[in-house]
Amino acid sequence: MADFLKYNMNNQTAIFNNVPIAIYSCDAQGYITSYNKAAEKLWGVTPVIGKDKWCGSWKIFDLSGESVSLDSCPMARAIKEGRVIEGEEIVVQRPDGSLYNIMPHPIPFFDESGAVAGAINTLIDVTEQRKNEAKQRMLASIVESTDDAIISKTLSGVITSWNKGAEKILKYTEVEMLGKSITLLLPSDKIGEESLIIDKIARGETIDHFETRRITKDGHSIPVSLTISPVKNGYGQIIGASKILRDITVQKLAEQALQQHSESLEILNSKKDEFIGLASHELKTPITSINGYLQIIDQKISSDDHNKVFIHKALLQVKKLSALIADLLDVSKIESGKLPLSFTTFDFSHLLSDVIELLQHSNHSHEIVVNCNATNLIVTADKQRIEQVIINLISNAIKYSPNDIRVFVNVTCSGDQIVFSVQDFGIGIAQKFHKHIFSKFYRAEDVEANISGLGIGLYISSQIISRHSGRLWFDSKPNEGSTFFFEIPVNQ
Ligand code: ADP
Repeated sequence: MADFLKYNMNNQTAIFNNVPIAIYSCDAQGYITSYNKAAEKLWGVTPVIGKDKWCGSWKIFDLSGESVSLDSCPMARAIKEGRVIEGEEIVVQRPDGSLYNIMPHPIPFFDESGAVAGAINTLIDVTEQRKNEAKQRMLASIVESTDDAIISKTLSGVITSWNKGAEKILKYTEVEMLGKSITLLLPSDKIGEESLIIDKIARGETIDHFETRRITKDGHSIPVSLTISPVKNGYGQIIGASKILRDITVQKLAEQALQQHSESLEILNSKKDEFIGLASHELKTPITSINGYLQIIDQKISSDDHNKVFIHKALLQVKKLSALIADLLDVSKIESGKLPLSFTTFDFSHLLSDVIELLQHSNHSHEIVVNCNATNLIVTADKQRIEQVIINLISNAIKYSPNDIRVFVNVTCSGDQIVFSVQDFGIGIAQKFHKHIFSKFYRAEDVEANISGLGIGLYISSQIISRHSGRLWFDSKPNEGSTFFFEIPVNQ
């Protein structure tokens, strides 16, 4: 019998020591009389039996963060007041600073005379539970405060949650929708979508930014973007879906407005091109007549007539005007894809010397220094259009180096390409303008006031060169000058 009792005692001690719940006891004076391993672990402290009182905790706080002295802890009050203390959660701090939420449950026991003989306290660690609750509260407040509709449903499509965002977007209240079928929101032509969605969700897949339409309580069909994810239970089984529904009416309207805007811009642009084409065409006829009449007058008046100089000035201006009109006509031809090219085979170096002669003849401010050692530069190209590009680049070099007296033309043949370049030491082009230089009607802002031009010469030149399977590019630094290059294939 004694053996049995001894065995039983040992057994109980083993259970007390090893249960995963912290348990300890105190005597009537509050001295700790026993504690198990779980209690020691929870406190992070090893109390001295018969010396330490009330509780093994290093520090105790109430839930508002106020410090609680050991002699007024729940265990101390249970012994002093002779009653069970329930539901008073405390926060225990270990010597390493870590904090734990603890639910104590001290139960006093009494001697034969009814006086308190001590108490047993169990300490339940509720830290994880509290953390989860805080996380849940945070998630719930996000769900409640978001403007998106967040809805959850079972795999059979029964709505299980409905947030404020859903009320706002879909106009149904939570009470109206809980327990109802999600198909209530589907337009008649989209009923089939639900089974497709559920099939995907049941396979564990997520649906991301699926754009569709849903019907609000007041019967409006609104464009929405849906993101739907599977919801799993604690065993990892898919039991439903959570859906984030975003009203994309505003995003969609903006898209439409943008589309309309760019359509009207396109119309305006083509109207402008049409106008430029028409206007330059209409201007061409009177200018040709003025030019003709001026030439007749020039021939009719004698060479010593002092009016002759005015006729020559007028003829020069008419020539400039005709060049501008010709450029504008070219732009409109390029825009309508009707810039005709007429290819012939010729020697580029001959063309170059003709053009230089012509330019040098009409220009006295600059010397055009040519370096062209290559010979037999046979190309198949539109002679007039290539001449137009050369004239444009050399004229620009002269025009944009008003304080200089020379421009340098260089021609080389590299592989199967002729490389033409013209260098000036003029005003140059700031880096920020580089990317726009070949755009139609573009002029670097800092030249606009001082040097006249329409900003179409380089645009036309780049189109001509690209139609010759060539390339037009430049190097330029402000106040140091520019070099414009083009290359076109040479005949092999
Ligand atoms: P335009 O000279 O009639 O303005 P272009 O299309 O020939 O038109 O040239 C476009 C712009 O490129 C010019 O307005 C000018 O800002 C810049 N540019 C062209 N050539 C030069 C150059 N050689 N030096 C400096 N800037 C130039």
